[in-house]
Amino acid sequence: MSTVPGDLALARARDAADPLRPFRERFCLPVAADGRPLTYLCGHSLGLAPRTARDYVDRELDDWARLGVVGHHAATRPWMTYADHAQAGLAQLAGAAPADVVAMNSLTTNLHLMLAAFYRPRGVRTRILLEAGAFSSDRHAVASQLAWHGLDPAAHLVELEPDPRSGVFDEAEVEAAIGREGDRLALVLWPGVQYRSGQAFDLGRLARAAHAVGALAGFDHAHAIGNLPLSVTADEADFAIWCSYKYLNAGPGAVGGCFVHPRHTRAEGARGLEGWWGHEAATRFRMEPRFVREPGAAGFALSNPPVLSTAPLLASLELFAAAGIGALRRKSVELTAFLEARVEQFAGRAVRVLTPPGPAQRGAQLSLQFAGGGEHARAVFGRLAGDGIVCDLREPDVMRIAPVPLYNGFEDVWHFTSRLDAALRAEG
Ligand SMILES: *Cc1c(COP(=O)(O)O)cnc(C)c1O
Repeated sequence: MSTVPGDLALARARDAADPLRPFRERFCLPVAADGRPLTYLCGHSLGLAPRTARDYVDRELDDWARLGVVGHHAATRPWMTYADHAQAGLAQLAGAAPADVVAMNSLTTNLHLMLAAFYRPRGVRTRILLEAGAFSSDRHAVASQLAWHGLDPAAHLVELEPDPRSGVFDEAEVEAAIGREGDRLALVLWPGVQYRSGQAFDLGRLARAAHAVGALAGFDHAHAIGNLPLSVTADEADFAIWCSYKYLNAGPGAVGGCFVHPRHTRAEGARGLEGWWGHEAATRFRMEPRFVREPGAAGFALSNPPVLSTAPLLASLELFAAAGIGALRRKSVELTAFLEARVEQFAGRAVRVLTPPGPAQRGAQLSLQFAGGGEHARAVFGRLAGDGIVCDLREPDVMRIAPVPLYNGFEDVWHFTSRLDAALRAEG
């Protein structure tokens, strides 16, 4: 066995020594049409299926078949309170108390609900600050909320540009921008991990800056939850939202999640749009016209929970609880550092790592920006796909790679970077 750093035997040895390695077997690993295993590095877009997800879904289908309406009370996990089973696991990952999180709807819907509750423009305080190049749906949601209030997004949506040289944000600049907006600022909406660059942020710092000027702070944790340990309560987020099909592995279109800080839900007259599922559970079925909000984040639910899209989330949260987000993060830091070192070794001239260096400013994902531009990136991406590598390309020239500690290993990273090296040589 050679001892050259970065060789295959060494990567395999690191996998063999990894205490989290057995979790890989608890996921369905995709294979190509010809049966060859694929190298899946796309958990930032759609997490893999936990093997037990099928059992969780089957149980609900069986209970539905067996019980009909009685399943609301008599199912193995009664449907009336089905979403409650996700609370402890989500709270653990979000860094919140269980009562302050709720599994409901999908991400964009939850963002709209949170904006309806917390974006209340008054006088000069009308603006919403967002990162330039934000995920399209977040921008659409914010712009349409402004328009809904009769405000022109061109004037009231403030999009902060990243540093033009590095392509990422300097937190001090974000803080300064918040300070400059001052009392014109109603809300800062910021990602825990930016979807394109992979940059992670000290959100407590940004929330403090927002609060210092009298604005609120909402976090989009789509790319952060299940990726990094989070601390939404300690960070003083007013609200946070996420989807659960990326690092949370709950399946396509699975139920999303939401955090509301207890200072908003314990306060008399907590605000927000209303539906029967946000009504106090104890009296919900009296069906009375007057709305009494359930305490905690559950008071923002509208509808009875989508049991079939919540079932795989429970399967996945069980795996997170068994592995522990702290241990997952420690492995993730090593995996991503290994990826970075190999990319620099084999592709340092052809690609620039857009994601900031160092674990404090990133999660699992590295974003590789192709010096040769979009056409070169697409050609390399096509070769990688032909070689059984699953990752993605954000137009025009950013390839996103996420080694996920629950099911990826050092050999996956080794294999990807070897194929990247070969593809770059072939494409010149
Ligand atoms: C994945 C993602 C979404 C997707 O929104 P859905 O409503 O779940 O379709 C929205 N915003 C961000 C930042 C995302 O990463």
